Amino acid sequence: MHKAGFVNIIGSPNVGKSTLMNELVGERLSIITSKAQTTRHRIVGIVNEPEYQIVFSDTPGVLRPSYKLHESMMGFVGTALKDADVLLLMVEPRERSLNNPEVLERIKKSSIPLILLINKMDQSNNAQLDEAFDFWKNELPRAIITPVSALHKFNIDFVKNKIVELLPESPPYYGKEELTDRPVRFFVTETIREKILLHYDKEIPYSCEVVVESYTEEPEIDRISVVIYVERDSQKGILIGKGGNDIKRVGTEARKDLEKFLQKKVFMEIFVKVDKDWRNEESKLKKYGYNS
Ligand code: GDP
Ligand code: MG
Repeated sequence: MHKAGFVNIIGSPNVGKSTLMNELVGERLSIITSKAQTTRHRIVGIVNEPEYQIVFSDTPGVLRPSYKLHESMMGFVGTALKDADVLLLMVEPRERSLNNPEVLERIKKSSIPLILLINKMDQSNNAQLDEAFDFWKNELPRAIITPVSALHKFNIDFVKNKIVELLPESPPYYGKEELTDRPVRFFVTETIREKILLHYDKEIPYSCEVVVESYTEEPEIDRISVVIYVERDSQKGILIGKGGNDIKRVGTEARKDLEKFLQKKVFMEIFVKVDKDWRNEESKLKKYGYNS
């Protein structure tokens, strides 16, 4: 049984919505976020697991009071509330109303599963958190209420598990492969392997395993950290070359290819490490993704 759905996050400016999103989605998947769009939601991240897909979106401007835009805005809130499968409402410990009180009225009338997050719990003591809990339990009796700290990663797993519990049964909304950064990581390792094949004698390429350790997408630049594992110290020396010149050439050429592919600046660092006889050990092969 597969679960999937739209999870909408609502809250006043500065309560910590983006911080929570980043934590829930992880930078791992950030590369997809600019591609996925729907007309009604701004998708900020998708979490793909074999058994579920969470599509996080936020509702821009919902809680920014504006009298001129009031009508259309409330229409927008209406659809945002209707379309979501799970609502996350985020408040700060001292908040006792929303910027836009009508949003709260709408939430009260809706029947969408609701999780209320009292964020920044690190800035409050227990008595203050209890008080906030009681207040919101009274306002929104049907909500699951929990204190969290998005910044300090407290109770975040609990929230994720609750979301999955509340998701409806559904096939995924977006292709799971297409929406991970796997293809890009694959391209990174393939490009580096190609350069190694090009510039080294045949024993070396076959003893190298290229692993992308981290991939961080920033607006202006993608930062990629790569480790090349070899089997022996002597291979490490050959790969690096005199004064690091040979590995530098691999890095520069691969980076240029990647920049062309991504249409974006790339910063890439390559580390060479020895992982003795990695080819012969089953556990290590598993680690590198060779499943037998
Ligand atoms: P948004 O406007 O709701 O998206 O809020 P942001 O995620 O941009 O966060 C606003 C500010 O609150 C930032 O300075 C965050 O670092 C901070 N913040 C977020 N979560 C927490 C938390 O759990 N504790 C504390 N102390 N600060 C937090
Ligand atoms: Mg934000």
